[in-house]
Amino acid sequence: MFNSTPCGRFAPSPTGPLHAGSLLAALGSWLQARQRGGQWRVRVEDVDLTREVAGAAQDQLRTLAAFGLQHDGEIAYQSRRSGLYQAALDQLLGRGLAFECHCSRSELAAVGGIHRHCVATQPRPDPAMRLRAPADCEIAFIDGVHGVIHQRVDLEVGDFVLRRSDGLWAYQLAVVVDDAAQGITDVVRGSDLLESTPRQILLQRALGLPTPNYAHLPLLLDTDGHKLSKSSAALPVDTRNPLVTLTRLWACLGQVALPPSATTSVAEFLHTATACFDLNAVPRQSITVSAAMHNTISTPCA
Ligand code: GLU
Repeated sequence: MFNSTPCGRFAPSPTGPLHAGSLLAALGSWLQARQRGGQWRVRVEDVDLTREVAGAAQDQLRTLAAFGLQHDGEIAYQSRRSGLYQAALDQLLGRGLAFECHCSRSELAAVGGIHRHCVATQPRPDPAMRLRAPADCEIAFIDGVHGVIHQRVDLEVGDFVLRRSDGLWAYQLAVVVDDAAQGITDVVRGSDLLESTPRQILLQRALGLPTPNYAHLPLLLDTDGHKLSKSSAALPVDTRNPLVTLTRLWACLGQVALPPSATTSVAEFLHTATACFDLNAVPRQSITVSAAMHNTISTPCA
């Protein structure tokens, strides 16, 4: 489908320091892109200003650098790309594929929480914009880790938000516009986004954009079942001994242990890992790690 060079990306939200789970996604994506001789981009997903933590983006970028995960090109910041999102929304509105929605959260909750038609009793000054999920809309794709995935977007998700009532761009629109604008061919990310992918494919089709290859990596969870980035007990990843952490992340990706010669330096590790990486070996299940060791993820991956 693509004539372009392979290109992967890492797209962190600047909501705090990187946790081991995010670094796992970054490493998997970097290895997949580099193994294919591709580029790897970093995009700071700072559309949701209400969740942004000052200094977090710079801190995340320093962590990537400490682990040798070099990116290509300029870092993109979603907060500077509103014009692109507006143009995509205008295109969808112009073709009758998106619409203005005055429904409140409570009105939608009263009809089961899934938007199929507007139930607003009065207009609001700050309507949201939604994409119409057509009737019988089944989206299927082959995920590089999870195999065939199906979703009836109309029944399971409904008409979804492109621009929120507070005026902020929705993740789904921004990610689709940016992946296409940046020429991303391979999206490798955490499996919490597996259920978002059919929405993104529907939106790509509505906008006439290509669909990248997708692969969703296992999440790292604390012992209460929370993602490390959402766990109150989790520590940020420790950058002081990157080889130890890289070796453990490599094990979390289900990969065969590398020879001792690969662990003499970060550059040597990444060089050998790039040659050996096998997406087929990546496990589907989430991985639970013990609380005290989140920053170096000692168990059970080691
Ligand atoms: N910004 C999202 C996150 O930090 C990732 C989005 C994506 O990879 O598509 O969870």
